Amino acid sequence: MATTDTPRMVVGVPRENRAGETRVALTPTALPQLTKAGFDVVIESGAGALAGYPDAAFTDRGARIGTRDDAFAADVLVQVNVMDGDASNAELSKLRQGQVVIGAVAPFARPELVKAIAGTGATLFALELVPRSTRAQSMDILSSQAAVAGYKAVLIGASELPKMFPLLTTAAGTIAPAKVFIVGAGVAGLAAIATSRRMGSLVEAYDVRPAAREEVESLGARFVELPLETGQEEGSGGYAKQLSEETIKKQQELMAKTVAASDVVITTAQVQGSTAPVIITTEMIKGMAPGSVIVDLAAEQGGNCEPTVAGEIVDVDGVKVIGVVNLPGEIPVHASQLFGKNVANFLGLMVVGGKLDTGVDDDVIKESVVAAGGDVVNNRVREALGLEKLPEPEPPAPEPAADDTPAAEEAAK
Ligand code: NAD
Repeated sequence: MATTDTPRMVVGVPRENRAGETRVALTPTALPQLTKAGFDVVIESGAGALAGYPDAAFTDRGARIGTRDDAFAADVLVQVNVMDGDASNAELSKLRQGQVVIGAVAPFARPELVKAIAGTGATLFALELVPRSTRAQSMDILSSQAAVAGYKAVLIGASELPKMFPLLTTAAGTIAPAKVFIVGAGVAGLAAIATSRRMGSLVEAYDVRPAAREEVESLGARFVELPLETGQEEGSGGYAKQLSEETIKKQQELMAKTVAASDVVITTAQVQGSTAPVIITTEMIKGMAPGSVIVDLAAEQGGNCEPTVAGEIVDVDGVKVIGVVNLPGEIPVHASQLFGKNVANFLGLMVVGGKLDTGVDDDVIKESVVAAGGDVVNNRVREALGLEKLPEPEPPAPEPAADDTPAAEEAAK
């Protein structure tokens, strides 16, 4: 807790630069927590407007409204997409030695950005690297945003489908419920299962991790059994491992019947650090009835379906394959609220004795720092840049698997 003679630390929130981004990195709900931890918050005027938070909503909770430069002058700069957008290169010169930058960085896709920020002397935290552990869940932006995306994917599937989702018994006859198939039962997949169930459809789901079965069934969906040797009993940090080409091929063959019988397929399969596995081929899609819909959540990672194009709807013999991008940005009020809470919780870990300590001995902080002391400090990013590896720190003590994620619990309600 800050004392009265300690100058308060300042968090700055600029408007997002990335084209089409509607979210904001902090929302008014997170402000009391930050104030209590010793932070003052300055928001660039209008930064929350597209997310549904006018300037007054921030000032009501004690924030100050300022210019973009005021936000960049803060001790801690928070952004949904760090330095992403046309003006970003020019803005690198606004960063300075000792400043802290936090947000989604895409550090492996943008290693040069990490290097450039390291060059300014700022300390950069990539929130995508927050570990998937029980303790870190409240700071995990990938989980909070994926839960929102899974929900929205179902709404898109339902509105594009020329059929009803629920069973309907009327004097004019009975309408059968739609059949929804969810591929990948991680955070987004579980949210999609829960949403589809609430809307009255029959839901089936598949995941390569056998542990997913229990979660799928607890949400009232049927787990599709595929006799495959996936070797996923022990994933790393809650993520799946990559399957061999041969196993993927077998998976496609075994899954073709389920896909063909579905009205809506929602694909969410991902293997961290690689492009998305292509699970649904064009041939499989041709087996579906015209009018059916596929919503591919992995579109930005290359897609789980062969014909997927990110940001577009591709027609395959009357089946719509929708390559959705930035779905959280379509629900910016709540996506920003969750993102902001993740940021506030993350920042709270670094406050020691009323001061910000970026070197605090905490696994969540240590795993997400990518630039510090003028250098790139994440070995995978260093590798991408052709830099020599740094000595690896001692591995953290193992934690129980995060099978009781808030997303799963929330979805189960
Ligand atoms: P997650 O890691 O929690 O879940 C992915 C699941 O896929 C895991 O359970 C994994 O076991 C499973 N999987 C991996 N390979 C598989 C295979 N061959 N067959 C079946 N299942 C397989 O990830 P998440 O946070 O739920 O995100 C899912 C996807 O959605 C990611 O690609 C993510 O980038 C994307 N996403 C998209 C948006 C958007 O707006 N488009 C938003 C958030 C997340």
